[in-house]
Amino acid sequence: MTDRVYDYDGPPRVCHEGHVYYESDVMQERYDLPDVGQREQTVADVEDRLDVVVSGGSMGGLFAATALRQAGHDVTVYEETERGKMRERGAGIIAHPEMLTYLEEQGIADWDQIATHTNRTHHLDQTGKPVDVEGHATYTTSWDTVYRNLRDDLPEGTYRMGKETTGVEQHADGVTVSFADGEQVEADLLVVAEGYRSPMREQFVPERTPEYSGYVAYRGTLPESAVLPEYPSTFSDVYNLYHAPRSQFLTYPVPGPNGEMEKGERRINWVWYYPFEEGEALDDLLYDNRGTQRSHSLPPGLMREAVREQQIAIAGEILPPQMEWLVRQTAEPFVQCIYDLAIPQLVFDDVCVLGDAAFFIRPHMAAGTAHAAADALELAESIYNADDLDTALAEWERDQVEMGYRLVEEARRRGDRYTGQF
Ligand SMILES: Cc1cc2nc3c(=O)[nH]c(=O)nc-3n(C[C@H](O)[C@H](O)[C@H](O)COP(=O)(O)OP(=O)(O)OC[C@H]3O[C@@H](n4cnc5c(N)ncnc54)[C@H](O)[C@@H]3O)c2cc1C
Repeated sequence: MTDRVYDYDGPPRVCHEGHVYYESDVMQERYDLPDVGQREQTVADVEDRLDVVVSGGSMGGLFAATALRQAGHDVTVYEETERGKMRERGAGIIAHPEMLTYLEEQGIADWDQIATHTNRTHHLDQTGKPVDVEGHATYTTSWDTVYRNLRDDLPEGTYRMGKETTGVEQHADGVTVSFADGEQVEADLLVVAEGYRSPMREQFVPERTPEYSGYVAYRGTLPESAVLPEYPSTFSDVYNLYHAPRSQFLTYPVPGPNGEMEKGERRINWVWYYPFEEGEALDDLLYDNRGTQRSHSLPPGLMREAVREQQIAIAGEILPPQMEWLVRQTAEPFVQCIYDLAIPQLVFDDVCVLGDAAFFIRPHMAAGTAHAAADALELAESIYNADDLDTALAEWERDQVEMGYRLVEEARRRGDRYTGQF
C-alpha cells in the first residue's frame, strides 16, 4: 500500500497505512487440522494424545486450547484472574477476517455474532472534516466478545480461574506445573500464554524485558446510544483516524458489553496514542485515585480526575471537535502503556511460549489477537502433522519467531512515525 501525505496543521506526515490484514498473512486461511465434525471422535481416537496445561486464559490461551482440542489433545487452561474479574479489559479489537472465519468454521460463533464492521475509513483534519476517504470494510469486535465465545466453547472444568502458575519443573516425560495455591499438575506440554508481563517467560529469557515505546494508549468506550443523538452518523459506520503532531486518534464501533450487535446498542471505542515520558510524567498518569503507583496500565475507574481534566484540555487544543467530545464524555478512560518485546527462542524442552508473552506487537497493525491465534493454530497443526513432539515444536518455533520479529519491527516503525518519533 502506498504512503500518502496527510493534510493536517503541521509538518507533512504520512497517514495510516491500513492494518496488516490488508497486506499480509498473519493467519493462514486454512489450517491442516481435523474438521469440526470429526472433533469429538478425534479426541477419542488420537493415539499420541497429549495432556496440555495452558498458563493464561486470554486470547492466546483460549485459541491454544481450542486448536489443541481440535487436534485431539486434553487441554486445561489455568487463568490467574478470579472469576468475574476478566471483564475490565473489554475494549475494542480490529478483527482479522481469517480469525472470524476460523471461529465460524469451528461452530464457535458466526461472523455477525462476534464482529461488527465499518464501511469506510475517514482520515480527518483538525476541523473534523474527512480529507481522505477509503471505501473498504474494517471488521471490529471486542476483547470480551471473543473471550466469551471461546470460553463458552470449552468443556466444563477445563478453564480454571484464580489459578496462578508459579513454576515448572521439567523431567524426562514432561513437566510438573505448580500453582500459587500449592496444587501441582503433570503434563506433556506447558503452553505459556501469560501476556507480555509473563513471569514464566522471564524465568526462561530473563535478558528480554518489554521496552517502553515512549507513548501510551489513552482510551475509552461510550455507549453508542449516548453518541448517536450528538453525532448521528459520524461514528457508527466509519473508522475515523486523526493524526496530530506526536499523536494519533482513532475510533470504531464495537459490540455492546454483552455482545450486542444492533446499531444503538453497541459501544464506540476510541484510542488516543499519546506520548508520556518515562519517569515523572508517566508515573503521574499511572498514579491511581486510590493512592497506588501503577506501572503498566490504569484500568477503567482508577484515573485521578486531575489527570482526566488535563487530558481533556489537551484534547481541546489538538483534536477535532468530535474526538474532543468523546474524550470529554468518557467518565472512565483507561491507559495501556505501549511496549516492544521480541524473544528469539519460544521452546524450552516441553514448554512453549506464545502470543504477547513472546512478542508485544504495538497495536498499529491490529495484529495482536490474530498473532496469538496464529501461534496457537500453527502449534496444533505442527503437532498434528509431525512424527514427534520435539520435531513439531522445533518447526513451529522457527516459523513463529520469523513472523513475530517481522510484525514487531513493522509495528514499531509505524508507531514511531505516527507519534512523531521518526
Ligand atoms: C491499546 C491496544 C490496542 C489493541 N488493539 C488490538 C486490535 O485492534 N486488534 C488486535 O488483534 N489486538 C489488539 N491489541 C492486542 C491484543 O489485545 C493482545 O495482543 C492479545 O490480547 C494478546 O493475547 P495473549 O493471550 O497473548 O495475552 P493477554 O491478553 O495479555 O493475556 C494473558 C493472560 O495470562 C494471564 N496470566 C498472566 N500470568 C499468569 C500466571 N502466572 N498464571 C496464570 N495466568 C496468568 C493474565 O491474567 C491474562 O489473562 C491491542 C493491545 C493494546 C494494548
